[in-house]
Amino acid sequence: MTSKTLPDCSKLFIGGKWVDPAEGQFYTNENPARREPLGQVAIATGPDVEEAVRLAREAIDGNTAWTQMSPASRGRLLWRIGELIREHAEELAWLEALDTGKPYSEALHGDIPHAAAAFEYYAGWCNKLAGSVPPVSPRYLDYTRLEPVGVVGAIIPWNFPLQMAATKLAPALAAGNAVILKPAEQTPLTAMALARFFEEVELPAGVLSVLTGFGETGAALVAHPGVDKITFTGSTAVGKLIMRGAADTLKRVSLELGGKSPNVVFPDADLKRAVRGVTTGVFYNQGEMCTAGARVLVHESIYEAFLEAFTTAVADLRPGDPLDPNTRLGALVNEEQFQRVQEYVRIGREEGAELVLGGEAPAGPGYFFPPTIFTGVRPEQRIAQEEIFGPVVAVMRFSFDEEALRIANGVSYGLAAGVWTRDLSRALRFAHGLRAGTVWVNTYNALWNEAPFGGYKQSGIGREGGREGIEQYTETKNICIAL
Ligand code: NAP
Ligand code: MG
Repeated sequence: MTSKTLPDCSKLFIGGKWVDPAEGQFYTNENPARREPLGQVAIATGPDVEEAVRLAREAIDGNTAWTQMSPASRGRLLWRIGELIREHAEELAWLEALDTGKPYSEALHGDIPHAAAAFEYYAGWCNKLAGSVPPVSPRYLDYTRLEPVGVVGAIIPWNFPLQMAATKLAPALAAGNAVILKPAEQTPLTAMALARFFEEVELPAGVLSVLTGFGETGAALVAHPGVDKITFTGSTAVGKLIMRGAADTLKRVSLELGGKSPNVVFPDADLKRAVRGVTTGVFYNQGEMCTAGARVLVHESIYEAFLEAFTTAVADLRPGDPLDPNTRLGALVNEEQFQRVQEYVRIGREEGAELVLGGEAPAGPGYFFPPTIFTGVRPEQRIAQEEIFGPVVAVMRFSFDEEALRIANGVSYGLAAGVWTRDLSRALRFAHGLRAGTVWVNTYNALWNEAPFGGYKQSGIGREGGREGIEQYTETKNICIAL
């Protein structure tokens, strides 16, 4: 990829080759900030999925270049992908900003290094993924192997495209699997750039395919008996469809789904720090984040002071050109998200919440929406229960710790939560009481490849990151030998 050119998305990357989509279908990708076309994208249909699965099986079944590669060599290959991502960081950030509408600077300092780090981190796991030797009896030797699960279908969303691709490919390949990646229809660009990198490092044929297309392409992977596992990040609604679809072939599934995370500010919090953390906690990436701290619970004794400082800080965030390095709030990803956010603002008003900032889209061609604050929100209202996935926050007031915990846990999701307090006991008591996969104390959105991340309740099944993140791409085989 030369600097600042759009990757060609009119071909599919199937088993290491660039091919035309079997049924000759394409769609037009759009830049959401300008509503201008970004080129034609191939639609993978049944025959393409069939071919990708066939080649993936060929690469994984029996003694093949991939299964016979030493773990250390696999590690070097993945490490090299991380290096290529870093070498092309500026182009990749540019592509991500064009495709998603997110600020270039956030992509450059967030998505891109995080994606590189995923490959670097899991590169190190390749030759450390050891089984165990359970002490069964003196007359037997028993040992376990962590084997690849086989062919993995990876289906990802549009909010952090390269980072999501890396979060799935790195551990799946490190564990020795073959992967078929289905990017979100809105954001195919960096997935195609990534495929080029794998071509450059000479990944054995068949080990990776990238199939652009729509939900049907993903559904075909879910239905295919030759796919052993689906790893999915996206909405809770589609996650449920995938779990149902996977039941027929009893596929393994990992699901990273939606959230409605609480950010709880106690009276003894460092107010300045809390305001900063709560602000980026919900408005980073235009609020199009599964972890968005979209419910802010503030103790009554500091409610007015917090709200004043928060509103002032948020009013500073004005949507602007994603490609301008100073922009901190970009455009929403498409018309559907744009409509969805406006619909929730209408619902919030109708429910009687008080709109204290934003709420009105500026004129212009792009899908820009200002940061929007609702106060006086009651926990049972829809804007306090449902994932909006945009720059809209619901602020609530509480009087007692137990009350805050009840509100915090009182949704169907359980992805993440934030706690702001200087009192260590209170922080830990609260962190242990929260039904969420990640709890941040005096920080927010601190995400690491080294640490497990995932949801309780309807926020998902399984964990990504850390040891848990690679083990979900393995089957444990037990071998028992009579001595
Ligand atoms: P989505 O509509 O669920 O789509 C996600 C992916 O699934 C896309 O690639 C989509 O393809 C594909 N898909 C759609 N229908 C399918 C089906 N029936 N079978 C198989 N695949 C199908 O989600 P989104 O709108 O892109 O992303 C936003 C959601 O992702 C939010 O709910 C957010 O909370 C969640 N998310 C969760 C995490 C996490 O780690 N927990 C992280 C980021 C985002 P098309 O694009 O072609 O429709
Ligand atoms: Mg796009």
